[in-house]
Amino acid sequence: MNARFGPAGTCNDFLAAGNKSSLQLPGFLSDLGLNAFEWQCGHGVNINEKNALAFSELAHAADIQVSVHSPYYISLSGTDETKRLKSLDYLLQSARAVRLLGGRRVVVHSGSASKISRSKAMELAEDTLTKTIALLDSEGYDDIVLCPETMGKVNQLGTVEEVCRLCQIDERMVPCIDFGHVNAMTAGSLKTSSDYAALLDTIENLLGYDRLKIMHVHFSKIAYTEKGGEQRHLTFEDTDFGPFFEPLAEECAKRNLTPVFICESAGSQSRNAVYMMQCFDSLGKSAG
Ligand SMILES: [Zn+2]
Repeated sequence: MNARFGPAGTCNDFLAAGNKSSLQLPGFLSDLGLNAFEWQCGHGVNINEKNALAFSELAHAADIQVSVHSPYYISLSGTDETKRLKSLDYLLQSARAVRLLGGRRVVVHSGSASKISRSKAMELAEDTLTKTIALLDSEGYDDIVLCPETMGKVNQLGTVEEVCRLCQIDERMVPCIDFGHVNAMTAGSLKTSSDYAALLDTIENLLGYDRLKIMHVHFSKIAYTEKGGEQRHLTFEDTDFGPFFEPLAEECAKRNLTPVFICESAGSQSRNAVYMMQCFDSLGKSAG
């Protein structure tokens, strides 16, 4: 198995080339040499079954691994019990969507910790995920891989450690490490390879090497404030904010990791995913 690279959602280049249908995406991505794609259901799971199955066939033929980003309004740690338990429905919908699209990974935001303590938020998120896994198993979706994501705002749940602890609920879960979010939440802590190394060590210590090896990655530069964390996603051309991909690629290549790298740059995510792939490949070759 090799690392995979692709964009989150449709990029500006795809639209500027006159493409209109999602069915044109697999060809567009494979022409760029990319082999992963994250389907965005951030604003709800509205998926046309016939279209999804056609997309799945094309993606499969082009060896593109598809993942789904579940709705942003999911609230794993919500204090309103009814709303919190609605997350189970939304995640079941997301599981159905990813299966139709021919993939298995569903990314989910870890939750909020703005009105409650982090430990209470963790308790609620753990409860929601445990119930979700039981529901997915009973509905025949036991092969679906839930990927809780590290978050970028200071008052959100989802530090690297919290995400790994959520993944300890079930060995099928895989962490989604959004390095832009980590950097934004920690006011720019990711700079050198040793910063990344410490983070990868944390994941390995909590989840083991096998899960670290196949982790799901979101990567983009993100503007942030010291106090609040994440503000907005940028492109690789931006020089005011990090993080930089090169030292991460170096650490991943050194450890023989094969993550799925999803680029979330604003508009230039496919082009920047190509850059990430080339960067990673050149390290692999120089390492021999
Ligand atoms: Zn996300």
